[in-house]
Amino acid sequence: MPYHCVAYGCGKTTEDGVTLFKFPKDPEEFRKWEKQVQRTRTQWVATPNSYLCSEHFGKEYFEPRLPTGLLKLRLGAAPTVFLTTQGIKAQSKHFEISSHNGLTEGLHHGRVCYK
Ligand SMILES: [Zn+2]
Repeated sequence: MPYHCVAYGCGKTTEDGVTLFKFPKDPEEFRKWEKQVQRTRTQWVATPNSYLCSEHFGKEYFEPRLPTGLLKLRLGAAPTVFLTTQGIKAQSKHFEISSHNGLTEGLHHGRVCYK
């Protein structure tokens, strides 16, 4: 069974070109991630085997890209990018990170810049 992202409206696997991140071992960090997911999935409960994909983290939470091309989250990263029911219809506009090969480079044409 491939792991899949637990976020509402997502459910992506590594086959979709995203990087999956396991919930943190630290109980406080774990709760922080769980709470963020619960903003859009109120009845959901996280397990130590829950994963979120790279599309739910802002660019500021990633370490500079490694030569291997692997994505790595900074310590204390929190998932902040989630779809709402309306958001699913305009998905490409809500994501800041391109999912091509799990890398942060290569911008979607529908990308919106929140500055
Ligand atoms: Zn996801």
